[in-house]
Amino acid sequence: MTENIIESSCHCGALKLQINAEAPSSLTTCNCSVCKRYGSIHAYFHPSNVKVIAKANSIQEYSWGDKALTFIRCRNCGCYSHWRSLDSSYKDRMGVNARLFTNLEIDKIPARRFDGADTWKFLD
Ligand SMILES: [Zn+2]
Repeated sequence: MTENIIESSCHCGALKLQINAEAPSSLTTCNCSVCKRYGSIHAYFHPSNVKVIAKANSIQEYSWGDKALTFIRCRNCGCYSHWRSLDSSYKDRMGVNARLFTNLEIDKIPARRFDGADTWKFLD
């Protein structure tokens, strides 16, 4: 592992991230309508620390409702990689799917359960 660079890749390798950050001290699972379906587990970073490396035409995005966020996945293999803010609500934050990390063992990082479906509070 290059020091302080967390790497992420979709299954086919077309969509990768390089994150300039220390390993997160905790991760977040969420029961909202989209996270529970993706089965994602998120780490959060400032967008300026996340470099997206994607082959041409390899990205699909999904946004709905008030379109505050867009969810980005690989067009080829379907892996959900990260979300980014489309408006000012989360401009300092990017949610990255830690399940795609390739150089960090996430099973040893505690995960908190966020109630995004209802109360917007942590359940633990
Ligand atoms: Zn892929």
